[in-house]
Amino acid sequence: MKLNCNFQNLEQSYLFVTIAKKVNAYTAAHPENDLIRMGIGDVTLPLAPAVINAMHIATDEMAAKATFRGYSPDSSGYPFLRQAIAGYYGSFGVSLEPEEVFVGDGAKSDVGNIVDIFGDENTVLIPDPVYPVYVDTNIMAGRQIVYADANMNNGFLPMPNENQPADIIYICSPNNPTGAVYNKEQLTAWVDYALDQNAVILFDAAYECFVSHGLPRSIFSIPGAERCAIEFGSLSKTAGFTGLRCGYTVIKKELEFGGISVAKLWERRQGSKFNGVSYITQRAAEAVFTPEGQKQIRENIAYYKSNAQVMVEAMREMGLWFTGGENSPYVWFQCPNGMSGWEYFDYLLNEKEIVGTPGEGFGKNGAGCMRLSAFGDGEKTREAMARLKKG
Ligand SMILES: *Cc1c(COP(=O)(O)O)cnc(C)c1O
Repeated sequence: MKLNCNFQNLEQSYLFVTIAKKVNAYTAAHPENDLIRMGIGDVTLPLAPAVINAMHIATDEMAAKATFRGYSPDSSGYPFLRQAIAGYYGSFGVSLEPEEVFVGDGAKSDVGNIVDIFGDENTVLIPDPVYPVYVDTNIMAGRQIVYADANMNNGFLPMPNENQPADIIYICSPNNPTGAVYNKEQLTAWVDYALDQNAVILFDAAYECFVSHGLPRSIFSIPGAERCAIEFGSLSKTAGFTGLRCGYTVIKKELEFGGISVAKLWERRQGSKFNGVSYITQRAAEAVFTPEGQKQIRENIAYYKSNAQVMVEAMREMGLWFTGGENSPYVWFQCPNGMSGWEYFDYLLNEKEIVGTPGEGFGKNGAGCMRLSAFGDGEKTREAMARLKKG
């Protein structure tokens, strides 16, 4: 018996362990502390009333023999939810068939599992810095990884390089951790590059609901994307589903490689390894896409966005180079005085009682940067920015 030796090539993730150790040491030494935690990548507001109501109704259905539901007829999701998601895309001008939407238990699982349908000999292009799941899932499969450098020169929005061949391309926009968002021209360049390379784009749209200013919310708003892209959506940041678990993958009928339908492969993969999202959760997700649900989740998103705005204004006042915050719950900035992310982390913790996330945790190009999250409390966010501005 041999284990998958590719796991030996994974980098140990010390980021959140190290942060927790440092924070615990500080709070032990300063029991009276007034720590403000801005490192979190998790939402803090509760589920919308429309969602809770839908779950109560669905729970009662499960309690009666006549309305009880067992295995869902299709691991790709109940038609009511696939229809609701297709309708949601229609609201921002992207036309989808319900059969092009595949419901799953979150974007992390789908982004991680999609690699099952691709050969291991492919070259994978991943931006740096970025959400670590893309790198780790491809290391597990032993694929060759090349990086697209994101840095201050390109506004943390790397563009395709014609001399760099790639078969699988990851794009996360709005980006975690940088909050940077591609515009239409930039995404068009990526789609053209992918079509030219006969490559597939894996587009992570987990933060699409934070996009405004007319920027693209879906790769499918770019002509040609239907022939080269797969999109991942999530209700986690959109509607506070991080603990409930629901997301979706969109694959258009036109997406084929060598005459083989990618949607069919994904359906087959899911049908073999996944039995669908719970009925109660799918009813909860359906409620997100009702007018009432949309109004309620929009209020929560506006709350997080107003926190982000407070952070953006503080960055401007302090004259720090930053990105994000406008179309994203993250602000990403250059640490002052040439400090490394970890040096600045220690300074913020010890001198300001603020917890951030050092950029080094997201890739080599994250060095010297810091991520702050807008998912916290409004009052505390204002207090944290006031402490920062005091110098
Ligand atoms: C939070 C996040 C997700 C969401 O994952 P879920 O599994 O749906 O909770 C996906 N991609 C990125 C970049 C994220 O930050």
